[in-house]
Parts: sequence; structure tokens; C-alpha cells
Amino acid sequence: MTQQFDTVVIGAGLAGLTTAIQSAQQNKKTLLVATGIGALLLTSGCVDVLGFQSAPSREPIANPLDKLPAFLADQPHHPYHLIGREKIKSSLNQFVTMVNQIGLDYQHRDGQNWFLPSPAGAVHPTYLAPKSLTQGDITTGGSMLLVGFHELRDFYPHLISKNLNAQDLGITSTPHKLNLPSTINATNITPLELARVFEQAEFRQQLAVALSSVAKGYDRIGFPAVLGLQQHRQVLADLTRRVGKPIFEISTLPPSVPGRRLFDGLRNLFQQAGGRLIIGSRVTQGKIEQGMVSEIVFQTSNRPKTISAKHYIMATGSLFGGGLETDMNGRIWEPIFNLPVASESNRHVWFAEKFISQTGHPVSHYGIKVNERFNPVDETGQVIATNLYIAGATLAGYDWTQGRTGEGVTVTSAMKIAEQLN
Ligand SMILES: Cc1cc2nc3c(=O)[nH]c(=O)nc-3n(C[C@H](O)[C@H](O)[C@H](O)COP(=O)(O)OP(=O)(O)OC[C@H]3O[C@@H](n4cnc5c(N)ncnc54)[C@H](O)[C@@H]3O)c2cc1C
Repeated sequence: MTQQFDTVVIGAGLAGLTTAIQSAQQNKKTLLVATGIGALLLTSGCVDVLGFQSAPSREPIANPLDKLPAFLADQPHHPYHLIGREKIKSSLNQFVTMVNQIGLDYQHRDGQNWFLPSPAGAVHPTYLAPKSLTQGDITTGGSMLLVGFHELRDFYPHLISKNLNAQDLGITSTPHKLNLPSTINATNITPLELARVFEQAEFRQQLAVALSSVAKGYDRIGFPAVLGLQQHRQVLADLTRRVGKPIFEISTLPPSVPGRRLFDGLRNLFQQAGGRLIIGSRVTQGKIEQGMVSEIVFQTSNRPKTISAKHYIMATGSLFGGGLETDMNGRIWEPIFNLPVASESNRHVWFAEKFISQTGHPVSHYGIKVNERFNPVDETGQVIATNLYIAGATLAGYDWTQGRTGEGVTVTSAMKIAEQLN
């Protein structure tokens, strides 16, 4: 027998989790089904709304909401056009309220961007970030000691300090590398493993002792973003007390601990709200009849399973997430509903000549075109299914690397869809 839900969400990235939580918290019977956990583990864990002017300027932006009209003037198909400034702003506030429920202290700054040190020592303008990262905001000025660990791969305090100091930002940064205690027994530790080590009070005590003389004279102390996973709040408070001055985190290269905290917290919040979660199953098919989705089919360990719902949200990511597929003949397709993909069939035009291109790669804009309700539309603008909504990176018309609008589109498109699930 086909199981019935009010809402079915496909995808467990930030877009899928956000819509699924909103639906479940509206007391709707909600199922989220996903193959894997999405891009959050690869991101900074911050929500970038608009970080930079378009090429060739690429200047960091301080007030993203005010600069949106100028940015969007060059981006006629960007999904922000369908959301609008006021809804973008209120969706981001809603997001802060949502993550507060899971003890994640995301902060905004009255419409302004934070300017955070990136893992390469560049400036990362971002709209929402966990408090542990915003405490590293560069505009505060002063002196900072950046602590790294010889055993932690891919975090380089010397590189970060050198690049920050070279930019004349009004801060001075000094690197310092420590060895982990021999009891930890690690020669090559990942950020996620080190975050668990930070949850040990004894380790924090040893660390505070090791820093006691080195940290003298600095205004604040920066660490890689590994200050605890499940006990992050306690780790931050306890280490601040032990070190005796403000401390902050700097994003690392993947796997991202702030991204993992966000994923774990959102997943728990969805389940606490009564949502049903299936991770590890692929949705293989969706049937559209008379302008409505009637069912989807997903794989289980023994047989395909059919599910029906009132609303369906496709938040399957872009080429990276598995929401779009390609072949070497230049075909790009959407594998569940076979929705039309706004794309070029000549694959020689998918990429710019240079890998690090000022203007990005055309392929990043490819995706599913939608109307103002985020229903998919065909080439003529006709709605394909009125109870199907597209959220996040699967949307056509933008490249998240251009202007850094990735998680901004993801969160605000998800919130906009969630308010329509009556
Ligand atoms: C490497 C990388 C780094 C990034 N860093 C940043 C950053 O620092 N800041 C920023 O603002 N933006 C960043 N972005 C962009 C931003 O992360 C993404 O736009 C956003 O997180 C995508 O979220 P999503 O939920 O739309 O998709 P994803 O996170 O990709 O999730 C897609 C989900 O759909 C599931 N799925 C796909 N197909 C199926 C199927 N057939 N059946 C079931 N499940 C399916 C996947 O398993 C996954 O759960 C980054 C993107 C990438 C790829």
C-alpha cells in the first residue's frame, strides 16, 4: 500500500533540512529521504548572502542587502529576484531562530556582513555565522594569536597570519603551532577527530597551560574550527575561561566541523518535530500526472517503495549533490522527474578556459527554472507540477562562487517554499 504524507522532501542538504523542519514544525506529516548528507561538510558552516561585487571588481561587500539591486542587475536569472529583499531578510532571521532551538548561536550584524579570516588568510564576508567564528571578525582590530597543531592536517596558522598581515586590515596576527599531547597518539588528525579531543576537559586544561605564557599580550586567540562537536557551547565557554581572554574559531578545509554541527543539529530538530528521516536511499522516479506529482519511488534494501504526498520538495543539489547528471555527449538531465534543465548541449561551452576563472563556469548556472512559487517551469514558462517545489543548489540561473550567494539562496528559497505548504 502506498504511504501518504503531507510533505515529502528529497535531499538532506541545508535546503532539504530547512524545508523539512519548517514543514514538520507546522504539524505536517513529513518525510525526508536522501542518498547522503549533502554539501554542509564541505562548507564553512556560515550563510553567505552576498560577499563580493561581480567581476571584475570583486570587492568585498559590507552591506549585502543594500548592494543586492546592483549585483542582481547583472544577474537577470538569479533566484534572489524571485524572493525579494524583505523575504530574504525575514528568512535569514527565521533561520537564526531555527538554529537557536538546537543551541547553535548564529549571529547577524544588523544587515552588515562579518569579515572573517578564511583558512587561507583571505577575508570572508558572510551574513550569518556561529558566535565562535564571529568573535574572529577582523574589523574589531587589535592583535590575535593564531594557534595550530602540528598533527592537524590542512590548517596553516603561518600562512593565515602572513596573508592577513599583508592586507593592512588593522589587525596584527601571529602564528603559533603546538604539538598535541603524546597521550592523544595522533600523527595526522582530521578536524572532526580533533573536535572530539577538545571535548575532553583534561585536554583543554593542558592546552590552557601550554598557552599561558605564549598568549600574553594578545587581545584574542584564534583556533581552527574544532572547538567541540556535540559539546561545542561548553567547550567554547570552558576554554575561554581557562585561557582568560576572548577566543574564536577559523574555518578549516573540509571536513567542516561547523558544517557538521549544523547538519547534526538540524537532523535532530527535524526528528524532534516528528519528521521521518531516511538517509541512504535514492529516489529513482517521480510521476507527474495532470500537472501534479502523484508519487515518488525510492530504493530500500529489499525493494522499491512508493510514497504519495500533498507537497513534494526537490532539494537534490546541483551536479555536485546528484540533483543533475551528465554524460560525455553534452546531455544534462534531472534524474527523478526528468524536468527540463536550463543548459547548453555543447559541452565545450560548459567551462571557462581557466579553472580559476574571474567569471566562473557557465555549467554552474545550469539547473531547473522555476516561477515565483518555486514550481518548475518549462521553456515557455508553463508550470510543470503545482505541488512540486525546487529548493537550493538545483535552481537555475546562478553560480554560488560569483558573489558568494550559495547558502543565502539555499536558506531563503527553502523558507519561501515552506510558507506555501498549506
Ligand atoms: C564544495 C562546495 C563548497 C561550498 N562552500 C560554500 C560556502 O562556503 N559558502 C556558501 O554560501 N556556499 C557554499 N557552497 C554552495 C552551497 O553549499 C550549496 O549551494 C548548498 O549547501 C547546497 O545545498 P543543497 O541543500 O541545495 O544541496 P546539497 O547540500 O548538495 O544536498 C543535496 C542532497 O540531495 C540528495 N540527493 C541528490 N539526489 C538524490 C536522489 N535521487 N535521491 C535522494 N537524495 C538525493 C543528496 O544526497 C543530498 O542529501 C559550496 C558548495 C560546494 C559544492
